[in-house]
Amino acid sequence: MRSLKDLVEELEREGFIRSREVKEAMLNIDRRNFVPYIHREEAYLDEPLPIGEDQTISAPHMVAIMLELLEIKKGMKVLEIGAGSGYNACLIEFLAYPGKVISIERQKSLYYIAQENVKRCPYSENIKIIFGDGSMGYPEEAPFDRIVVTCGAPDIPNVLLEQLSIDGIMLIPVGGHYFQELYRVIKRKEGITKENHGSVAFVPMIGKYGFKEEFYI
Ligand code: SAM
Repeated sequence: MRSLKDLVEELEREGFIRSREVKEAMLNIDRRNFVPYIHREEAYLDEPLPIGEDQTISAPHMVAIMLELLEIKKGMKVLEIGAGSGYNACLIEFLAYPGKVISIERQKSLYYIAQENVKRCPYSENIKIIFGDGSMGYPEEAPFDRIVVTCGAPDIPNVLLEQLSIDGIMLIPVGGHYFQELYRVIKRKEGITKENHGSVAFVPMIGKYGFKEEFYI
């Protein structure tokens, strides 16, 4: 039977995992603990899986790409928008410890699931799951060294840029409801630089600075 180690080695062979740190994180945080029971057998496949409320836990290669682009260092404070299963929040905390992760989720049932799931992570005391609209960020704890948006936005919200530290990195899928381009935004004293890291398909960010909810009813 396929194991977590098989998955991680495949991601490394295919070039998605490039650093020792991301490899360690993906070996230590077991994806199987974050997928619904009926999908446990598929946890080590490189595929997105349903987590309820029409939402998904992203494919492991996408998680690895994003973790590598974020260049998270020990002690950083990271904001995630879209907690989902809590998997990515645990990986981020593994990389950032003794730093802190704040992860926002707008679906109440997923907020509860993420809260329960992260209790099983090492360093879970440094992960805070918040219920609410993450498109507005989380000014109470700003600025953040890193911001990662795991849902697709129509634009880069200014309010998120304002909450990013100088020399901070934000990753955000920008585009339509189904397909987007993954942007890495770096904020320097002199201004903002944006890199396009290719096409991606995330569920939409619904909220004040995201898409409107009516579209999905
Ligand atoms: N990072 C998650 C994980 O590790 O399982 C996967 C995230 S899933 C691809 C995207 C999530 O973004 C969904 O759970 C969705 O409910 C959430 N979402 C969408 N719009 C949001 C918003 N405005 N604020 C917070 N979460 C939002």
